[in-house]
Amino acid sequence: MTDRKTPRAVRQAMPLARDVAEEIAKLNGVCIRPIALKRLDTTTGKTEVVDVPCGSTLESKCPSCAKRNKQLRMAQCREGWHLDQEPIITPDEPTDEQTWLVEFCADMQAQRDQVAKAGEDTTDLDAVLAGLDIEINEAGMRGSVIGRTTTKRSRSTKRRQDAPDLPKRKMENTTLGRTYNGYRPSLFVTLTLPSYGKVRNGSPVDPDTYDYAQAARDALHFSKLVDRFVQNLRRVAGYDVQYFATVEPQKRLAPHLHMAIRGTLPRSEIKQIAAATYHQVWWPQADEPVDYEPVWGEDGYLNPNTGEYLPTWDEAIDQLDEPSHVIRFGDQVDGKGVLAGSKDADQCIRYLSKYLTKSLGDTAEGHSTHATRFADALRYEPCSPTCPNWLRYGVQPKNAKAGMTPGCCRSKAHKPEHLGYAGRRVLVSRKWSNKTLAEHKADRRTWVMEALGEPDAAADPHRYVWRPVRVGDPDIDPIGVRLLRSVAERQRWRAHLRDLEARATGQDLSAVGEAA
Ligand SMILES: [Zn+2]
Ligand SMILES: [Zn+2]
Repeated sequence: MTDRKTPRAVRQAMPLARDVAEEIAKLNGVCIRPIALKRLDTTTGKTEVVDVPCGSTLESKCPSCAKRNKQLRMAQCREGWHLDQEPIITPDEPTDEQTWLVEFCADMQAQRDQVAKAGEDTTDLDAVLAGLDIEINEAGMRGSVIGRTTTKRSRSTKRRQDAPDLPKRKMENTTLGRTYNGYRPSLFVTLTLPSYGKVRNGSPVDPDTYDYAQAARDALHFSKLVDRFVQNLRRVAGYDVQYFATVEPQKRLAPHLHMAIRGTLPRSEIKQIAAATYHQVWWPQADEPVDYEPVWGEDGYLNPNTGEYLPTWDEAIDQLDEPSHVIRFGDQVDGKGVLAGSKDADQCIRYLSKYLTKSLGDTAEGHSTHATRFADALRYEPCSPTCPNWLRYGVQPKNAKAGMTPGCCRSKAHKPEHLGYAGRRVLVSRKWSNKTLAEHKADRRTWVMEALGEPDAAADPHRYVWRPVRVGDPDIDPIGVRLLRSVAERQRWRAHLRDLEARATGQDLSAVGEAA
């Protein structure tokens, strides 16, 4: 506010000080990419410019917000892992998980019908189906699930994935693990993709035989395989298993998964489930590129040599009689039991969140030959039905339109820093900690406000009206000034909290500074 009176010469020197201000901001955990908003206070009629933390992790490259998000994730992980009371669930948006649930339910129904036809006992399968019904209804999907699946095109029956041959327990309507002698053990599991060729120190021993295409495809479909694993896990465990998982890069640039699982199963069963889990990709082939460049005609893409139109996505799909790709885990499956509140549990939580402030490719040496070759493979691998890369393989992408160029897909999956994995880095099941990330955030905030003896600002949601600020708005101070102002504010809070801490007895306020 005082800064508009700052002499012009000083203000012009400000950009030079920006780097310094940014460093100071980072040291103090203050957001370095704040978003300026105008806030009208409807009770006082006063308008102020307020800096809101960018809040995001990777795209904004703001280490302070990334660090805070990581701490929230750790709190979320900790709260859910050994939960001993059933969480209360609020309805949510449909997720991939629910889509799989429907498919899984169709698998089980088909199996039941077969068993019934053979005149055998269906009690077990009926119990599983009943459990699934509850699960599906809880997942917020109403109506006839089976009906919806069978109204799909006829190919869905043919292409339905077989339920792997695994032991299964009766479905119980609980998300909690069992207790053993008063203990409530949980699991920490690591799942890895198979080998694509011998690797030393993260680099292929022989890059020419290393299977880059396979590695790229597996990375692209990795999240589907994880979904399958969870479905199989629930079926074997016989309860609504909850998990908190993170996807991280291995040195060889393949994604792998660390998963905190609530409740426990024998490790041999985890291995069995991982070995039996697979995902089929029913896409056209993407191994042999065509020897022409498709051009856009009146009705889509055509071969300029013959004038013939390329098959549309739906036509190409209808012609398939086998999956183009099947993805499975590698044999490296680690699982260990972890007890609530143990040192082990803390260590696992740190491990789970280790890479959350970095993008997947950050840990890799981006300029190594291996990284370059992998990026090349990813560049031409179709990432989705709408990917322009399909033109390279003589198929029109879904929703094809003029101007598509193979190798120029803008989807996240092709970007080297994502290593082919476009999914979420943190996968949390719906009934994990009983709270959303926003609620975990609000928790910390409320706690700090209470510690400071200040009422939480969220009291009246209609008190403030927010408006965006135009670029070059004269009310906005230079970024360096804004950062230093936030730092000063942060330091004031800290001092106040130290004061409280000195007076407090037995209450741990050490983490509060981070939440402030
Ligand atoms: Zn930020
Ligand atoms: Zn693509």
